[in-house]
Amino acid sequence: MPSQPDTGPCIFCEIVAERAPASVVYEDDTCVAFLDLRPVTEVHTLIIPKRHAAGLQDLDPADGAHLFTTAMRLATALRRSDLRCDGVNLFLADGEAAGQEVFHVHLHLFLRFAGDSFRIDADWSTTPSRSSLDEIAGRLRTVLTDTESATTSA
Ligand SMILES: [Zn+2]
Repeated sequence: MPSQPDTGPCIFCEIVAERAPASVVYEDDTCVAFLDLRPVTEVHTLIIPKRHAAGLQDLDPADGAHLFTTAMRLATALRRSDLRCDGVNLFLADGEAAGQEVFHVHLHLFLRFAGDSFRIDADWSTTPSRSSLDEIAGRLRTVLTDTESATTSA
């Protein structure tokens, strides 16, 4: 089941089909990487699968692996370029609650340098107890085991 109902032409599919303009950084048979129209740092690249997938649960795992491999290549290229690049961030929003706005999976890659304006408004200071962490980890392990047995028995 798709993460989001189809609501007309997908802008990223339009870019893949070259019916919408994009400043393409990299392209191969599986993915395309292009610059975000609203960059939050000097270089803000979106890496998308060519095959439409609304969210992670719809994404072919091989396409997902390829997105990450491509992000690694682009990160290396940024560091070798003449742009100031002290680091990179990868970011993927899956679902509306996570901030996803275009429902075609996209992996953000941000060029970073010391003192840039990039901020993540998150509270990194909470310190739950070990028993609380273990309880959550156990719940997830159970679901992972159930998912794997459901997949292998199908
Ligand atoms: Zn699409």
